[in-house]
Amino acid sequence: MTVTRFAPSPNGHLHLGHAYAAVVAHDVAREANGRCLVRIEDIDGARSRAALAAEFRADLAWLGLAFDEVSAQSTRLAAYAAAAGRLRAMGLLYPCTCTRAQIAAVATGSGPDGPVYPGTCRDRMTNRAGAVAWRIDMAKAVALVGQLEWRDVRAGVQRATPEVFGDAVLVRKDAPASYHLAATLDDAEDGVTCVTRGMDLFAASHLHRLLQALLGLPVPVWHHHPLLVEAGGAKLAKRRGSPGLAERRAAGEDGRALADALRAHRFPAGITLSEGLHPAA
Ligand code: GLU
Ligand code: ZN
Repeated sequence: MTVTRFAPSPNGHLHLGHAYAAVVAHDVAREANGRCLVRIEDIDGARSRAALAAEFRADLAWLGLAFDEVSAQSTRLAAYAAAAGRLRAMGLLYPCTCTRAQIAAVATGSGPDGPVYPGTCRDRMTNRAGAVAWRIDMAKAVALVGQLEWRDVRAGVQRATPEVFGDAVLVRKDAPASYHLAATLDDAEDGVTCVTRGMDLFAASHLHRLLQALLGLPVPVWHHHPLLVEAGGAKLAKRRGSPGLAERRAAGEDGRALADALRAHRFPAGITLSEGLHPAA
């Protein structure tokens, strides 16, 4: 059975771009007689606001989108820690104490998540005091699993190139998992068969495919959908794109009509769908 998901982060109100993503996730599942899940990605401690999860549910109901289940990453911290432990036991993670500024100073280039870390801490065997992030030894991990592929239903079969991330952080200094580790584990735990999300996360799937291979997780297909952008290609900004969904709901607008407009690709003036690959903001 097809299982898709919509995975918003509760660090701001949902806007039109989220509504489009939710419609895609919902409709892909519905057309396949499958299920669609909502997952609240709420482990970004400092930025997560618990109250927003309830608002998101109300927004989705207002859009007329029924979801089968709602989960929250904050309830799964033990699973993230266990997976990190397995990778550590495989000798694939190393602790890194570098600050943002230090990383920026030594970066060897720019990857999907920003500066590519050259592995300064990889061979440092000293005991670190204070908070550490755990990074994957990318070269070692890639050598272990060999060549991988994954399939996007729109873009076709992709050769996985997780090395574009360099030694990505899998366990953050301030959270038990990075987005990449948490989302990959969640999709497996939730039985997601079709990972529905925006093109801004297309490159992330290279890394997620690697993690699936390392952790023996099932491999879904991906459906990266185009993003709503402002004329000129800029990412949809709340301030200009439209008021947030909660605000529109409170103003008495018809949410189902809005969802239907998005399905029909009827967007407000100055907003279009972009097929391009957008680096995550
Ligand atoms: N939480 C991410 C966001 O709100 C989406 C992650 C995903 O769909 O994998 O942009
Ligand atoms: Zn470091």
